[in-house]
Amino acid sequence: LIRFDKVTKRFGSNTVLDELDFSVDSGKHVTLIGPSGSGKTTILRLLMTLMKPEEGTIKVGGRYLTHEEKNGKLVPAGEKYIREVRKNIGMVFQQFNLFPNMKVLRNITEAPVQVLGLSKDEAEERARGLLELVGLTEHIDKYPNQLSGGQQQRVAIARALAMRPQVLLLDEVTSALDPELVAGVLDVLRDIAHTTDITMLCVTHEMNFARDISDQVLMFDSGRVIESGTPEKIFTEPEHERTREFLSAVL
Ligand code: ATP
Repeated sequence: LIRFDKVTKRFGSNTVLDELDFSVDSGKHVTLIGPSGSGKTTILRLLMTLMKPEEGTIKVGGRYLTHEEKNGKLVPAGEKYIREVRKNIGMVFQQFNLFPNMKVLRNITEAPVQVLGLSKDEAEERARGLLELVGLTEHIDKYPNQLSGGQQQRVAIARALAMRPQVLLLDEVTSALDPELVAGVLDVLRDIAHTTDITMLCVTHEMNFARDISDQVLMFDSGRVIESGTPEKIFTEPEHERTREFLSAVL
């Protein structure tokens, strides 16, 4: 479903991703781990088309994110094309990024109405179902600043799912939360991972969570995947010295 082919991303002279190749099959849950600055967030931002790679191609659902085909030729993707492909991809950020001036319900219905063209009733029905899933039904009429960080993050998860994306990107979604709020958010994500067929790509420092939900773990270092495998393999018998060092620092 997701395919990176020789993707290079630079910021000035800093090569953050270096001819990166990897792919994620439909319905799989893949976790990216690795030291700070190794390029994990950059991968999610590329998938969200918040930035473009200098070299290489990215495909989601068989379509290029970086290019579009015109008259049999690959040309750099235009805005309209990107908007279309992006409907398939939902993202939850570290800092929630809810719309502060909208109540919880509207935060969730806004994009389905504006982008997918759902009627208000359809979008609200979908939103109510999702609020139940994330355990926030009674907070439907509140503004984001009336909620705890953990509750806001669960609204952000519901908001991402309301678009029914094929892919859900999770970028360190618990790292801005007070420790006592982390478990509630992770429980919701576990539930989603175990009960839906959504493809998840997740950057996290929560290794127990990664172990629970992942089909595959990719260990990054300096913009490359240095090791990948099942959570059992990576967490219990990593092959690479850098992986062992990293895990002993975080576990
Ligand atoms: P962390 O766990 O700290 O979030 P990460 O593995 O997600 O790390 P990235 O956020 O992808 O790492 O960043 C990789 C490198 O790219 C870092 O050296 C960072 O300073 C640099 N970088 C990221 N975004 C930009 C930007 N917009 N402009 C310049 N440099 C950037």
